Amino acid sequence: MDFAWTPEQQELRKRIIRFAEKELTHSVYQHDRDGTFPYDSWQKCADFGILGGNVPEAYGGSGRDILTNVMIMEAIGYGCRDNGFTLALNAQLWAVQHPILEFASEEQKQAFLPELVAGRLIGAFAITEPNAGSDAFSMETSAVREGDAYLLNGRKHYIGFSPIADFFIVFARTDPKAGAWGISAFLVDAKTEGLTRGANSEKMGTRTMPMGEVMFKDCRIPVSSRLGGEGVGMSLFNDTMDWERSFILAGHVGAMAKQLDICIDYAKTRKQFGKAIGSYQSVSNRIADMRVRLETSRLLMYQAASLKDKGEKAALEARMANLHIAESFLASSLDAIRIHGGKGYLSEFEIERDLRDSVGGVIYSGTSDIQRNLISRILGL
Ligand SMILES: Cc1cc2nc3c(=O)[nH]c(=O)nc-3n(C[C@H](O)[C@H](O)[C@H](O)COP(=O)(O)OP(=O)(O)OC[C@H]3O[C@@H](n4cnc5c(N)ncnc54)[C@H](O)[C@@H]3O)c2cc1C
Repeated sequence: MDFAWTPEQQELRKRIIRFAEKELTHSVYQHDRDGTFPYDSWQKCADFGILGGNVPEAYGGSGRDILTNVMIMEAIGYGCRDNGFTLALNAQLWAVQHPILEFASEEQKQAFLPELVAGRLIGAFAITEPNAGSDAFSMETSAVREGDAYLLNGRKHYIGFSPIADFFIVFARTDPKAGAWGISAFLVDAKTEGLTRGANSEKMGTRTMPMGEVMFKDCRIPVSSRLGGEGVGMSLFNDTMDWERSFILAGHVGAMAKQLDICIDYAKTRKQFGKAIGSYQSVSNRIADMRVRLETSRLLMYQAASLKDKGEKAALEARMANLHIAESFLASSLDAIRIHGGKGYLSEFEIERDLRDSVGGVIYSGTSDIQRNLISRILGL
């Protein structure tokens, strides 16, 4: 596979990095400490066209190819040191916009996509429940048909964007006897009577991406809010996961590239025992490992993007990319701290934040254990 960028793509990459460095880096330390979502950065991304990369022009987007979109998200991750924010952008593109593009009716697409692209609507993807985490299809939330409506009851937790979302893509059981084939998805307005949500959950990393619970108590939603046919929830979820797993960590790949540049610079300039620390093999070996992790992460992600651009399935490639990028960012973030010594451990130097932010990657979109299970299953084990 050839991943050589055209001169136009290279210029676009530079432009995105300049934009991210100039517009998306203010108050990152403070936002992380306070756990606040940077609304102004979101709007700037919408105005710059970042939120419309995947969406066809007919719905207000720019309809770029997947590989270019992934490169854009990677460039944002390089220029913007706020991994919570880049995770939020990617979650919106791959887990909210994408299922609407693939499964929504024309009326739903017209209602949601232009507003999402313009940054006027923010959506959340809600499947996880207290008793249904890795085993997501064992969910208890139900949607019972009553004439031209469904009555929604249940509780979702660990939902990204929940405290601030304008609407939720909610998965609920519509046929209790049909197991995983009895699940449907719905577009639920956050203002619907019977919907309540918890406060922003305090968490160790990606603190600028809000997250919390959402509860449904006899929440009456019209049949027209169903996303896709009744019972297509499992297919919708699996299709969305193929995209999410492949690309949700694109920003983290960019962050790994930035992290590597910072570490190389430090290893060249920090002197101990009269020599630059980079001249000691213990330090330079770590940097070599970081570079290998970065390149292999990139290649796996581009491979998945290239397959998607050709309209091919990428179930195995998506899982491999997700597993490898998540574990690589975690390992490299710990190496970056070791390379910086005490400076790496102190919050004010903004090295340690990457480690806190990287841990979530081995949990969301399926834990690393689950990715390994899925890879093994595809290999016939
Ligand atoms: C930052 C963040 C953002 C999130 N955003 C969202 C969101 O927007 N929407 C949403 O719906 N959910 C979201 N989640 C939830 C996430 O998808 C779940 O946390 C994840 O699927 C794991 O479920 P669990 O936490 O219940 O862990 P469990 O499923 O209880 O797993 C606990 C442990 O057991 C292991 N385990 C479980 N089953 C197996 C098995 N069969 N084989 C091997 N090991 C196993 C797991 O790997 C893990 O180590 C988010 C989570 C985080 C941390």
